Amino acid sequence: MADSTADGVERRLPTDEARELLSLVRDIARREIAPRAAEEEAAGRFPRELFALLSRSGLLGLPYDPGHGGGGQPYEVYLQVLEELAAARLTVGLGVSVHTLSCHALAGFGTEEQRAAHLPAMLGGGLLGAYCLSEPSAGSDAAALRTRAVREGDDWVIDGTKAWITHGGIADFCTVMARTGGPGARGITAFLVPGDAPGLSAAPPERKMGMKGSPTAQLHFDGVRVGDDRRLGGEGQGFSIALDALDSGRLGIAACAVGLAQAALEEAVAYAKERRQFGRPIADFQGLRFLLADMATRVEAGRALYLEAARLRDEGRAFGRCAAMAKLFCTDAAMQVTTDAVQVLGGYGYTADFPVERYLREAKMLQIVEGTNQIQRVVIARHLVGPESR
Ligand SMILES: Cc1cc2nc3c(=O)[nH]c(=O)nc-3n(C[C@H](O)[C@H](O)[C@H](O)COP(=O)(O)OP(=O)(O)OC[C@H]3O[C@@H](n4cnc5c(N)ncnc54)[C@H](O)[C@@H]3O)c2cc1C
Repeated sequence: MADSTADGVERRLPTDEARELLSLVRDIARREIAPRAAEEEAAGRFPRELFALLSRSGLLGLPYDPGHGGGGQPYEVYLQVLEELAAARLTVGLGVSVHTLSCHALAGFGTEEQRAAHLPAMLGGGLLGAYCLSEPSAGSDAAALRTRAVREGDDWVIDGTKAWITHGGIADFCTVMARTGGPGARGITAFLVPGDAPGLSAAPPERKMGMKGSPTAQLHFDGVRVGDDRRLGGEGQGFSIALDALDSGRLGIAACAVGLAQAALEEAVAYAKERRQFGRPIADFQGLRFLLADMATRVEAGRALYLEAARLRDEGRAFGRCAAMAKLFCTDAAMQVTTDAVQVLGGYGYTADFPVERYLREAKMLQIVEGTNQIQRVVIARHLVGPESR
């Protein structure tokens, strides 16, 4: 079943329901998200009310079980929704992706009782989530994390600092990986912590080069107490839960990257048709035509790769290797395409009067989050030649 974006990009959607969903999302993106993007990013404003609208529209729990308030959509469809949102504003696409990531531990590893108690509010009740793995001295080497949870009777008491947390300080709930045992990956357990838990506080947001509308902050856990009924999965299972979530989360980042690159491509094409030099539209010059052709090819190749990984996932097949490739390829493509878009616009591309300089700054972040692109290469190489020997 085919559908196309505003600029005629063909999409293959599996059902009529998916086609209607994409059309609803495009409508929200065009009317509610895109018009405010430049101004709010410059002002560093997070659009909380937009997330309330997305929640009411069923867009904050798309790939999860309808029995718990989710949308029951395959990843293939969910990711195309993310792409549309990110094309309108990356802060929104990324926010939905991070929220979805933060629901993964409970949806996949919680007990039926825990799911019934918390998931409906998380998936469709207006709540916003955060995923708390990174720490100031544990980034790529996340298994070295130091935040500790100590058992006291029926409770756990959490102390430590999480770093770089998207939605840090505004999230209603946090999925937190903390050390409950010895060193390394096997000593880590996952917890669902309310955003307003006593002892939980946020530092002022980081001053980033882009994505200023998306708050990123350290979270301090100072004797934060949660019941054992908020432990997700078994003791010591937290790191494998975190990695399982990241396999899927990386696909979200890949789809967001393609959305951002698509937006940059559309700006570049429109400008090249309008701008005249040497008595002709600059789109007449082969030097630019080839640049635009390469940009479009990167976007389409990225889309094909993330959809391939999504379809493997939807079929219940192993998709981790393909997800790492999609994250790597799509975010590198977004970096290249946004850089080229600035070039197409010449001096104007370097000003804030056009969105492409913002797109370029936003693309850089995608090469870093949810495993840097070096780490994606480490993952892919392990699939090819096995683990490194030390
Ligand atoms: C805007 C933003 C939002 C984020 N949101 C979240 C979030 O919501 N939740 C969360 O938990 N984290 C989040 N992060 C953290 C992000 O996942 C980390 O920044 C990332 O994993 C890298 O960790 P690091 O910054 O400590 O870099 P480091 O791990 O210190 O890496 C520094 C450099 O060394 C390279 N490197 C490290 N190890 C290797 C290796 N083995 N082989 C080759 N190269 C290597 C890296 O690729 C990088 O280039 C966010 C980060 C940013 C910038």
